[in-house]
Amino acid sequence: MLGLALARDLRRLGHEVTVVERADHLGGLADAWQVGEVTWDRHYHVTLATDDHLLSLLDDLGLAEEMRWHHTRTGVYADGQLHSVSTPVELLRFPPLRIYDTVRLAVTLVYASRIRNWRRLESVPVASWLQRWSGRRTFERFWRPLLESKLGDAYRETSAAFIWATIQRLTSARKRGLTDEVFGHVAGGYGRVFERFEEELRRSGVAFKLGASVERVGRSGDHLSIDLAGGDKLEFDRVVVTAAAPVAARLCEGLTPEETGRLTAVRYLGIICPSVLVRGDLPDFYVTNLTDEGFPFTGVINMSAMVGTFDGASLVYLPRYLDPGHPLFEETDAAIEDSFVAGLLRVFPQLTPSDVLATRTSRVRAVMAVPTLNYSDRVPNIETSVPGLYLASSANIVNGTLNVNETLQLAEQALEIMT
Ligand SMILES: Cc1cc2nc3c(=O)[nH]c(=O)nc-3n(C[C@H](O)[C@H](O)[C@H](O)COP(=O)(O)OP(=O)(O)OC[C@H]3O[C@@H](n4cnc5c(N)ncnc54)[C@H](O)[C@@H]3O)c2cc1C
Repeated sequence: MLGLALARDLRRLGHEVTVVERADHLGGLADAWQVGEVTWDRHYHVTLATDDHLLSLLDDLGLAEEMRWHHTRTGVYADGQLHSVSTPVELLRFPPLRIYDTVRLAVTLVYASRIRNWRRLESVPVASWLQRWSGRRTFERFWRPLLESKLGDAYRETSAAFIWATIQRLTSARKRGLTDEVFGHVAGGYGRVFERFEEELRRSGVAFKLGASVERVGRSGDHLSIDLAGGDKLEFDRVVVTAAAPVAARLCEGLTPEETGRLTAVRYLGIICPSVLVRGDLPDFYVTNLTDEGFPFTGVINMSAMVGTFDGASLVYLPRYLDPGHPLFEETDAAIEDSFVAGLLRVFPQLTPSDVLATRTSRVRAVMAVPTLNYSDRVPNIETSVPGLYLASSANIVNGTLNVNETLQLAEQALEIMT
């Protein structure tokens, strides 16, 4: 998405642009794939009504009319039961929290949504900040499972700016006067978005090299050259690498030790995320967080609560965010899917193994940069010391969360630096 947005904008400014992509199709983390008979996003995606950059892109692509908006519900699996925590009243009644805990939770949310100076939160660990404002019990029963569902164990090293950015994103719709929290998706999912985006880019004259894995980027004479796996070489005046920071560090020649050091010091989170297709409807919670121990995944995402069932089957994602070096990355898909599906049957006891129609597991080692303490002091630079070489990736997002809207904003920031 970042590379395509830059390609579009550079082409509009009259440059000749080539997109080089390792996969044989576009989309990266937001691409589509097939599970059983269903083609949908490899990772779950929703759009917020305040995602202005994304909505404007969809408008450009002629897809604005294809947005579908939904009121979604949120569940929590606690003490062996599913609870809805979708409204303030339901939250007040959420059994693991007492009234006093809920009041502190509400105070924390209101306070965080009003903070303007996020920088001072960067030096405070998120766990300490939440415990200070919400209390220990609310932290243990409510916040910690939420942090684990988004960050795995890395929440221990994450700064309070992360929860600030998350709360800001989720409350921004309300601040704009929208009374309800709604999530949206494009009919046909991101597969449709990338199909249209590719058509538009090709029509405007952007060239594509798909299935082309970059192995090295460096200066040769007065050009930048790109070596591809298989031996092909490409030459350009300028190159912007939009792969994750450690990949950029490996590919790019001629960076200073300080530049390489910044790229390799970024701590990344990986994800293992089976998609599971099950027969029938499930409770209509888009997200179900887990406070009980012993699950291999950190939350359940029922995409069908948003987009409807696919020929009577529900599409569920079982994400587990974890360290890129975690041994689970070495497990076979079959072993991962056995234990993850067993966990799913525990959350929804109405399901039996024969209701599981298809599974497929995505694994990505570098999904997002962990917003560690004082991250903005250590963020890699977009412009490098190698003339004409630029590096932009989600590691450059300093006071936001990983999402497509933020990615498009980052493309604007990178474009300004490049032009
Ligand atoms: C589980 C999950 C849930 C998400 N949920 C949401 C959501 O609800 N809403 C939302 O807005 N966003 C969501 N996102 C985030 C969204 O997917 C990302 O913000 C966005 O896709 C990032 O795009 P990118 O271009 O920065 O990175 P990427 O998509 O990672 O693109 C990098 C590209 O570089 C290519 N590449 C890497 N190395 C090489 C090489 N050596 N040679 C050639 N090509 C290479 C890769 O193949 C890839 O296509 C989610 C992401 C995940 C993983």
